[in-house]
Amino acid sequence: MPRTHKTKPRLYINAPLTKGKLIALERGQSNHLANVLRMKTGDELVLFNGADGAWLAFVAELSHKAVKVETLDCFAPQPAPNDLWYGFAPLKSARLDYLVQKACEMGVSQIQPVMSEYAHTRRIKPGRIKANLIEAAEQCEVLNLASVLPQTDLAELLESWSVEHKGRVLIVADEDLPAASPLERLLVYKNRPLGLLTGPEGGFSRSERDLLKQRDFAVRISLGPRILRADTAAVAALALIQSTIGDWP
Ligand code: SAH
Repeated sequence: MPRTHKTKPRLYINAPLTKGKLIALERGQSNHLANVLRMKTGDELVLFNGADGAWLAFVAELSHKAVKVETLDCFAPQPAPNDLWYGFAPLKSARLDYLVQKACEMGVSQIQPVMSEYAHTRRIKPGRIKANLIEAAEQCEVLNLASVLPQTDLAELLESWSVEHKGRVLIVADEDLPAASPLERLLVYKNRPLGLLTGPEGGFSRSERDLLKQRDFAVRISLGPRILRADTAAVAALALIQSTIGDWP
């Protein structure tokens, strides 16, 4: 998108955006604009909602608790949606926040928690995932917000994959593979719909690896001769995929 307004605050709005629309911000957003950023009436900002492109807007009314903003013009159309599914084993909170934010920055379009035998965390809050996606999108000029799919487990995911994700390749970062470069293995899948799965802090179990080996659509890759933490592995694998068979031109 054009970077003409890159120094202005960017705000995700959970409503349709049209010209000349007055929007009452939620309490948290009002507080952020009025008390943290100390914006004044007339100051400009950028709004997006994941569907209607990027809009220049200004602060129309402002008090300490309630802020209203008004849209001016759409200056960047909504880009075509990406198509990259990402499944991750739940991690403890701070690392999970990081992982979700990085996945957003790296262009993931659907994100899904996939429970795994050696995961240290059993259940995660979809609201928290959404908040992290929004925060990263606001920071990094992302206009397409990933959708959050309900938590599943590995066996269930693999069972339903061919139906739910027909024709999609599932790249799996497997720390147990010999450390060979994944480039050759990845390049075979150019122009195919893609998914990535990374494992938990405890790694994949033997029976999970056996399940993965039984599926033709699951392509296991190494991320090198070092064991990476799960959140690092997410960024490394997404960079490899995007740079070889993903959306980097
Ligand atoms: N603590 C575990 C490793 C877990 S790493 C152990 O010692 O075995 C967490 C996840 O990151 C793994 O399940 C895998 O998906 C990914 N990962 C980390 N390092 C990797 C590597 N070198 N190659 C492929 N995947 C890796």
